[in-house]
Amino acid sequence: MESRILEVDGWEKVVQFTDQETRLNAIVSVHNSNLGSGLGGCRIRKYASFDDGLADVKNLSRGMTYKNALGGIPFGGGKAVVFADPYTEKTPEMMRAFGKAVDSLNGFYVSAPDSGVTTDDIHEMRKSTKYAAGVVDEQGRGGNPSPVTAYGVWKGMQAAAAHALGSGDLKNMRVSILGLGAVGMALAEHLHEEGAKLIVADVNEQVLAIAKDKFGAVVVGPNDACAQEVEIYAPCALGGAINETTIKRIKAKVIAGAANNQLQRPGYDGVLKEMGITYAPDYVINAGGVISIGHEVMGDWDRGKLYQALDNIAVVLTRIFDRAVSEDTSTGIVADTLAEEIFRN
Ligand code: NAD
Repeated sequence: MESRILEVDGWEKVVQFTDQETRLNAIVSVHNSNLGSGLGGCRIRKYASFDDGLADVKNLSRGMTYKNALGGIPFGGGKAVVFADPYTEKTPEMMRAFGKAVDSLNGFYVSAPDSGVTTDDIHEMRKSTKYAAGVVDEQGRGGNPSPVTAYGVWKGMQAAAAHALGSGDLKNMRVSILGLGAVGMALAEHLHEEGAKLIVADVNEQVLAIAKDKFGAVVVGPNDACAQEVEIYAPCALGGAINETTIKRIKAKVIAGAANNQLQRPGYDGVLKEMGITYAPDYVINAGGVISIGHEVMGDWDRGKLYQALDNIAVVLTRIFDRAVSEDTSTGIVADTLAEEIFRN
């Protein structure tokens, strides 16, 4: 295994690891460790170039610094990328070698699943390091982050509705959900139980049929989910749901969804503010999964404590909404400022 420090201004530690035998080529990036070890997922992807992977891991690890700070967990921001096709090139040996690379940092970075990484991969990593999380332990603690992410989004949505619509009770509210995957479907379930009226869109016919059947949801095309006559729009598919085409078409008063990087451009939260739309910053509302993983790493994963921390997402969001009003600024700017106040002090 070879390692090479990459000097990156503004990031505490960025290291490339290569291992000829297993064909591992990875970068681990810790943006900031003021609050603790850099915690964040490992993404396995065939990047077009080394620079693409480096740019991705830098941005992602920086994002984790902000997410973990506002998520109230004692971790800094870290992330890793592995340059490989997760379907054709990833092997258990490669995952164990990645675990060794993580281990060599002695806990400065703690890994977890991201796109391209399965629970099996985490189990392989854990054969070489204790600094990988996101699995259920022998006592049934920890595990799948998606249901907890969905719970946090649901609570955050209630907080956003309370702020923007005068009531956090979602009964009879109309919610349009784009993306009924692991998080979107679990969110739909919470909303249905609460009595919300659902409009759903996905590219997968199977999940649409389930939502129609179980929740009486109305199905629309993926391009039209943003433009529905609803109180709340919940982007839960890929990034960039709020883009130059969709932003003009949004009729909802609240945007509260699970997807990462919902805004195609950084200033769009300001545009939404001008449109009178309350936007729940994505990295705040979707932090449930990493909060759970953080509790798992701290070794004190407990259902009651976890759900208290998830409920706190709504408290943090309310603080953000109120401060955005009092400072006449966007929710994204307030979220970043609040996070910086936490991790820079
Ligand atoms: P997933 O892959 O299980 O679900 C994504 C869903 O979106 C799928 O049903 C897919 O068919 C659908 N989709 C994909 N492209 C689409 C398109 N163009 N139009 C409509 N639907 C489309 O993913 P997930 O785990 O549910 O995560 C959803 C989002 O939430 C992602 O952006 C993810 O990064 C983010 N997120 C997830 C978690 C988590 O705990 N899983 C945590 C934080 C953030």
